[in-house]
Amino acid sequence: MLTNLQARDVETLVHPYTNLATLRDTGPLILERGQGVWVHDVDGKPYLEGMAGLWCTALGYGNEELVEAAATQMRKLPFTHIFGGKSHDPAIELAEKLKEMAPVPISKVFFTSSGSEANDTQMKLVWYMNNALGRPNKKKIISRVRAYHGVTIASASLTGLAGNHNDFDLPIAGVRHTTSPHHYRLALPGESEEAFATRLAADLEALILAEGPDTVAAFIAEPVMGAGGVIVPPRTYYPKIKAVLEKYDVFFIADEVITGFGRLGTAFGSEAMEMKPDSISVAKALSSAYQPIGAVMIPEAMYQALLEESRKLGSFGHGFTYSGHPVAAAVALKTLEIYDRENVFERVRAKIPQFDARRAALEDHPLVGEARGKGLVAGIELVADKKTKAQFDPKLGMAAKCVAFAQEEGLIVRSVFGDAVTICPPLVISPAEIDELFDRLTRALDRTL
Ligand code: PLP
Repeated sequence: MLTNLQARDVETLVHPYTNLATLRDTGPLILERGQGVWVHDVDGKPYLEGMAGLWCTALGYGNEELVEAAATQMRKLPFTHIFGGKSHDPAIELAEKLKEMAPVPISKVFFTSSGSEANDTQMKLVWYMNNALGRPNKKKIISRVRAYHGVTIASASLTGLAGNHNDFDLPIAGVRHTTSPHHYRLALPGESEEAFATRLAADLEALILAEGPDTVAAFIAEPVMGAGGVIVPPRTYYPKIKAVLEKYDVFFIADEVITGFGRLGTAFGSEAMEMKPDSISVAKALSSAYQPIGAVMIPEAMYQALLEESRKLGSFGHGFTYSGHPVAAAVALKTLEIYDRENVFERVRAKIPQFDARRAALEDHPLVGEARGKGLVAGIELVADKKTKAQFDPKLGMAAKCVAFAQEEGLIVRSVFGDAVTICPPLVISPAEIDELFDRLTRALDRTL
């Protein structure tokens, strides 16, 4: 029986990423407020937010400094665009700060409101750059199976999950997907992580050669895949991939929408994963999700091409109304200031051993095939048979069941492709709360058996 609010919800809203048919029976969980790592529903029941919303509320809930930063900027100047030569202080300062923090040399910053828009922009910038460089055929973008890069037509095409393509007539032309770096599922019998990484780099090279290196413009990758099930590549994967990309002059884009700002214990996931990208997409934890904002971090060589092309055409013809939105920029600046002042990334590193130990211990559970992760993000893959790694019939929705039991236990986690339960708590979670999270998840797993 739906509550009044739930009934009004299903009569009025189309929910993203939701089985709209079953939601009509169950109704949504309606949340009202949050404090620290806890959120409360309309009946006052508390839940430990084990997914930081959607991998984004890094500083948790109820952060008054972020609220004040937004209110102050709203009073001062709630909006100005930055088209055609206008600008404002928060956008300038935020761009400077991002350049300073970048793990690779970055020349300029382009602001968006989301991760999808950042990756969409990446694709357009690569095309624009290659036209400027006089190589109009070098346009294909290679992504990976199980990647998640967003939902716009371009970024959903880069996404390597069938659920994002089916019946949306995607992917668009010119996007290819290479092998996912998931050793547990895809390694050959007896294949070491090192040999697996070598094989994946060879797969990428074979794909570039088959397509024709003169037609391949860029490769995009999340340092650690998130929505695809939290896939952590082998240690030597990115150096091997980078060597292939350099050989064929293929631009390297890091999608740090989840891994940016401390998630893996370093400012950027690229550092933790020894990835040396040319450009970087960020969003989510950039503002701890208190405001929607994303960014593309652009290297000098690409900027020079954009400069020349815009000189030729009379304008750089791309930009969102909310590119560099002053309130979003002010909140992002405050977020970065807090990360710095409170040593948030260093404190994440101190929490990782406990998180790792609790995560790894889940592999003893009869339902868990692999409990993988890095930093404060994890994917717990459920299997029907631990020895053979046989999967459950997807129709059983085992991970979704576990997530529903977790919700009853007062824990919010998420089920994703491949029967995995994902965990990605706010970075400010305390050691006691980490234990609470894993205790509640274990109870949910026991009930799923
Ligand atoms: N890239 C990655 C790695 C993501 O995880 C996401 C969202 O989860 C996106 C891009 C898309 O971001 P948004 O939902 O803000 O458009």
